[in-house]
Amino acid sequence: KQYVVNQLKYAHLNAFISRTDPSSLTGRPPSPDPKDAESGLHSVYDKPIAIKDNICTKDFKTTAASGILKDFTSPYDATVVKLLQDAGAVMVGKTNMDEFGMGSHSTHSHAGPVKMQRYEGDEASAGGSSGGSALAVASSQCWAALGTDTGGSVRLPAAYTGVVGFKPSYGLLSRWGVIAYANSLDTVGIFARNARIVETVFDKLNVYDPQDPTSLSPSTRSRLGSNEGRSESLRIGIPLEYNIATLHPAVRSAWIRALQALSEKGHTLHPVRLPSTQHALSAYYILAPAEASSNLAKYDGVRFGSRAEGVDGTPESVLFATTRGQGFGSEVQRRILLGAFSLSAQAIGNYFIQAQKIRRLVQQDFNNVFATDNPLGDEKTSPKQAEEGVDVLICPTVPTLAPPLSEVKSQDPIQAYMNDVFTVPASLAGLPAISVPIHTTHKECAAVHGENDIRESAGIQIIGQYGDDKLVLHTADALQ
Ligand code: GLN
Repeated sequence: KQYVVNQLKYAHLNAFISRTDPSSLTGRPPSPDPKDAESGLHSVYDKPIAIKDNICTKDFKTTAASGILKDFTSPYDATVVKLLQDAGAVMVGKTNMDEFGMGSHSTHSHAGPVKMQRYEGDEASAGGSSGGSALAVASSQCWAALGTDTGGSVRLPAAYTGVVGFKPSYGLLSRWGVIAYANSLDTVGIFARNARIVETVFDKLNVYDPQDPTSLSPSTRSRLGSNEGRSESLRIGIPLEYNIATLHPAVRSAWIRALQALSEKGHTLHPVRLPSTQHALSAYYILAPAEASSNLAKYDGVRFGSRAEGVDGTPESVLFATTRGQGFGSEVQRRILLGAFSLSAQAIGNYFIQAQKIRRLVQQDFNNVFATDNPLGDEKTSPKQAEEGVDVLICPTVPTLAPPLSEVKSQDPIQAYMNDVFTVPASLAGLPAISVPIHTTHKECAAVHGENDIRESAGIQIIGQYGDDKLVLHTADALQ
């Protein structure tokens, strides 16, 4: 009932692009899955769940917050949506986002910007690109929400809005029916108030899907999670490269408090180095737009997408250019141009190929610090590394707290891209990563205004070896 009340109360946050009539959310008899009830776990039965608007649903339009898809309704549900519906979850609506997942503040949307309001007069960034999903959870308009994370789009908004946001290992959750941004990086992610709810939803979705060619096969799945039993006393890595000069003092202090809390629980702390991290952001902003420029080529008003008006009788090239010029927002157009350039014959060697090499170095950096092997790689860790390596890494999710929307509006694109500096390394390496909110104290932040649903907090990120999703979730639970 509270969710229904909040959906009306928080309509001004613009977290949803389309939503179910709240009256249809009431009156469903609670009848949890007997298996879940037996194991004492939460069940998703009857739970209101919001879905990011780039995940296909039969019952709602799927616009990806783009003008070019403003009239699109998918003839089928994405696998992740179907799995939740089959388990009895209630889809409450489609959440607002940055167009096609491109952005860090959920302001590049055909439906207008998402606006986080924590107290009277506040208008702050909810993060992006899954800002609507994060804010829907933060304002209790749903119990959990799905987002997508290509370079941080689940973790960054979770950090800004004070909820938990989880990006699983690449290939675990099906992408069938998820509108592609950059296929080699795209993952479906989960938001909720705490890590246990995230785990409940993750358990429902973590299955092989033959319809997604990148879905991890059952035989590889059976080899994952060798680190799971180690949660008694973990070796926690502190990546020194993440302690940058521009880290907000409240974020640094939240990081220190998180490490102290884990150390008091008997885990041990170990400084580590990830030297290629400093190049990860530039590599990401070559690779992601390159894949995007190829993925978005199909929206031309003939094969896909709403055609611009008045161009029916014109030559094809004019029809395409007008449709794409009108249908795509400015940030998406910028990414298409960047991507087409870095894939062009004169630039591919200096940009795309170099970025792929950096991606490999970033992956190797992670493999060099973890105690266990990457189950997808050929290299075995040495006995010394197995002893001295770490189980998880803990670092900030984003260097700052949620900025005011007025500040975001005057930022240039590069400043917005800088927000992703701590989230893209795990994306390039396909690793599981979660953002957990650590609430800021009155002394650290002037802007704390009484008891609100949405509290100001800093996001702390936990990164694990490929396939150690459960270990990452359980470490997040220990932090809350
Ligand atoms: N902000 C990043 C970008 O714009 C990440 C987006 C995402 O993860 N979908 O590319």
